[in-house]
Formats: sequence, C-alpha cells, structure tokens
Amino acid sequence: MNSTDMPRPKPGVLDIAAYVPGRETAHGVAKVYKLSSNESPLGPSPKVAEAIAARSANLAIYPDGSAHVLREAIGRAYGLNPGNILCGNGSDELLGLLCQTYLGPGDEGLFTEHGFLVYKIQIMAAGATPVTVADNDDLNADVDRILAAVTERTKLVFLANPNNPTGTYVPVNEVKRLHAALPRHVILVLDAAYAEYVRRNDYEAGIELVSASPNVVMTRTFSKIHGLAGLRIGWMYAHEAIIDACNRVRGPFNVNALAIVAGAAAIGDREHVERAVEHNEAWLGRVSEGLQALGLSVTPSVGNFVLVHFPTTPGKTAAEADEYLCARGYVLRRVSGYGLPDALRMTIGEAEANLGVLEALREFMAQAS
Ligand SMILES: *Cc1c(COP(=O)(O)O)cnc(C)c1O
Repeated sequence: MNSTDMPRPKPGVLDIAAYVPGRETAHGVAKVYKLSSNESPLGPSPKVAEAIAARSANLAIYPDGSAHVLREAIGRAYGLNPGNILCGNGSDELLGLLCQTYLGPGDEGLFTEHGFLVYKIQIMAAGATPVTVADNDDLNADVDRILAAVTERTKLVFLANPNNPTGTYVPVNEVKRLHAALPRHVILVLDAAYAEYVRRNDYEAGIELVSASPNVVMTRTFSKIHGLAGLRIGWMYAHEAIIDACNRVRGPFNVNALAIVAGAAAIGDREHVERAVEHNEAWLGRVSEGLQALGLSVTPSVGNFVLVHFPTTPGKTAAEADEYLCARGYVLRRVSGYGLPDALRMTIGEAEANLGVLEALREFMAQAS
C-alpha cells in the first residue's frame, strides 16, 4: 500500500499542532493540587448536583436542542434577550463554530501572539489562514498592531479579554477603538472566559458592544467561575444574524441534558459566584506579592491565575521549577506553546495549595545552583 491509497485529511489539517491540555496529575505524591487549567477551587454551586440528579432519571430523552432553559437563565442573570444567546459544548465549541460558519480557504483569522491557542487551531480547521499579531512589551494585546494586520481577507478577529495565559486585559475604550476601526464585514470575537473575576472600572466583557453592533460576539464559559469545566458549557451573545448562521451549522443537540440544567442552576446561584470572586480577590494579590517577594516577576493579572517568569539560569528555570513543584504535588502549567518558555501559569487554588506553592518555590529559589 502506498500513501496515495490512504485517506487524506483536507489541506491544512495535518499542519495543526493539537491542543495540549494542562497536566492532570503528579505521581508518587500523597496529594495533588491541580493548578494547571484555571478551574475553580470552590467547585460548582451545591444546586448543580440537585439539578443533575433530577434530570438523570430521564436520560433516554434527548435534550432540548435549543437549550431554552439555559438561555432563559443566562438572559435573566444578565438582562439579555435569550434570542441573542447560543449555548455550546464549552465555549471552545463556539469558537470553532464561528470559524466553521465564517471562514473558508483564502480567509484570514487574527489572534494575538500570546493569545489562547484554540483560535489558531479552529481557524486552521476551517481551512483558513491564521494570522498572529505581536503583543506589546507588557505581553498585552496591541490594538494598533491588530488593526495594521487587518486585510480585505480578514473575517474574524479573536481577542481574549482578559487574556489567558497572561492575565492582562484591554480596557473598554481600547476595545471600542478597535471595533470602531474594523471594517464592518469583520467580526470581533471577545472571549470573556474570565470576565467575572475582573475588578477594574475600565473593563467591560462586551455586552454593551454586542448590543450596539451586528459584528461583535462575546463568548463566556461555565468552566471557570462556575466550577463546571467537566460538564462543558459555554455561551455566546451576538446579533440575531450571527446566532441564526451558527444555529444552521451546529450539531442539533450540542449541549447535553445534564449540562443544560446544571448551567441554569449554577448561573442562578449568585451567592456561590460571589464566594468564588471573593476567594480570588483574597488570594490573587497575596500570591502575586508572595511570588515577587521570592524575586520572581509576575505579569499583573485580573483573572484567576498568574503568569510567573523564571530566570534562565540553569537550576532556576521554569522547566526545573515545574518539575520541582510537580514532585511535591503542585501541578502548574508550562506555557512554551504560548511562546512563553520561561514562564509558568499558576491557577489561584485553595488556601493550602497557594501557600504550598509559595513555600515550595521559596525552597526552589534558595537551592544552590
Ligand atoms: C478556559 C478558557 C475558555 C473556556 O473554554 P471552555 O471550552 O468553555 O471550557 C475559553 N477561552 C479562554 C481564553 C479560556 O482560558
């Protein structure tokens, strides 16, 4: 058999570098603290388990393909028209759906240098050309550079705001300036996976901009503040024309029955969300300062994670720190794939985990090299 007899994926597919998720576990330690995927240390609202138990009695029945109950609950929580909401199997699915719906060969999708890796994968999966835009020296997205990279072939511009893995954010006036200067045929996708954590007066997730424009999409997730990463629930808010187009392309039952009821229960429990925000508030500054006190530099973060930069001196590198921490049960995230080989990303975890990482890194930095 020679290779021409083999089934071949469409052009571009084999050029995709598959997404590598955060490490899940460490071996040979009594307890593992997973701080690699920005999951909530508080877990989901207790109301979620009740909702799942009730729907579990009825698993032979298909879910509601329009996820009506979930869209209503999201609409109530944010004061939005459920007709402008589309739910997905995680926001990852929605990012892919936007690419499948709006991009084809010859089109370009833009994203930033240290932006979320899923954009590039999904742009390429749609057969389109991925275009990377350089960030500024603070590792933040640069609106002027994004605008300079737009061509008549550009169809989608992805901006994670706040960005993962840097924790940086683009202020609302800059997002508005970006949108105002984009051609009308370009969709600006604002990925606001960490919006709930942000405590800044000059930040907006994108609701206002979507409401006023036919070419802006905001995506959100239940994987972070709501503690439901395992169930896979995301949503997007956009003009009816975009929702309509994506509805034609998506799978008919793309959100499963348990996810629909769980998401509705989670978003209705404001107190639980508030607890998660307060936990992050209490620890984000403390962890950032603790790391800096060890001589490490930390990119200022508004999310539930921090990007920590290590020296390149042998014995003190990010890769060695990662091994050292893993051997003690602290699983952080290497971010070489994001062009940041000298950094690790740490999710803000439970108190014990946060203090444990600080203590382990204190020992690591004090070792003779
Ligand atoms: C975690 C994350 C998401 C969420 O993805 P889900 O598929 O909803 O779990 C989306 N965008 C960014 C930037 C993220 O970090």
